[in-house]
Amino acid sequence: MTSPRFLRSPLLAASHGFSTRLGGVSTGRYASLNVGAKWGDTAANVEENRRLLAVDAGFDPARLATARQVHGARCLLADGRSPEELAAAEADALVACEPGRVVGVYTADCVPILFSDGAGRVAAAHAGWRGTVAGIAAAVVEALVAAGARRVDIRAALGPSIGPCCFEVGEEVASEFATIPGAVLRRDGEKPHVDLWTANRHLLVAAGIAPERVDASPPCTMCDRERFFSFRRDGGEIGQMLSFVVAG
Ligand SMILES: [Zn+2]
Repeated sequence: MTSPRFLRSPLLAASHGFSTRLGGVSTGRYASLNVGAKWGDTAANVEENRRLLAVDAGFDPARLATARQVHGARCLLADGRSPEELAAAEADALVACEPGRVVGVYTADCVPILFSDGAGRVAAAHAGWRGTVAGIAAAVVEALVAAGARRVDIRAALGPSIGPCCFEVGEEVASEFATIPGAVLRRDGEKPHVDLWTANRHLLVAAGIAPERVDASPPCTMCDRERFFSFRRDGGEIGQMLSFVVAG
């Protein structure tokens, strides 16, 4: 079924989705499908929004695991750990192989990346500019290989996030991307813009993923106020989106 509550990539075989801000019960700055508990929405609204999303997507919300995202490059194996244990662990990516286990990341401009090897192994990663530079994309590929995935089978899809159209940065941030081809755009009279999609595509391919197995053309969160939350556009105390993928 199609639902306004999430988008999918045609590339990934696993059950997955990138949530939007549509079809929820939250109001005001959190309107309406806010699934993040970080920025002050009521717990009841967040829980109901997560339930609505899970029903549409067909996963068990009790099996959803997310970690404490800290803009790093640490990737944890979720198997054998409870959602409570993982929620307290600092990591920006989770790998899962146990059938029915759901792993996810929360974002509102940072790049969510979902992975699948087509044989039940999956991963979800949170790649803001710091995580991208720290190498989170390659860390997930290596973690999947360590969990038994064949590198040639891994597919990755980037979700809604701030695009090169909107991600204006200072020189100090641009310089962090100097070694990644095509990651920094410079137009006359403008500050540099960073292209996190091209950067992560490059890093995934450098980690051994075939270019045709990377879906790196998501919509821009900042450009599309109707469908997405955007931290850069609206500041803090807004909603967050969840990108999720189901193992098995
Ligand atoms: Zn944009």
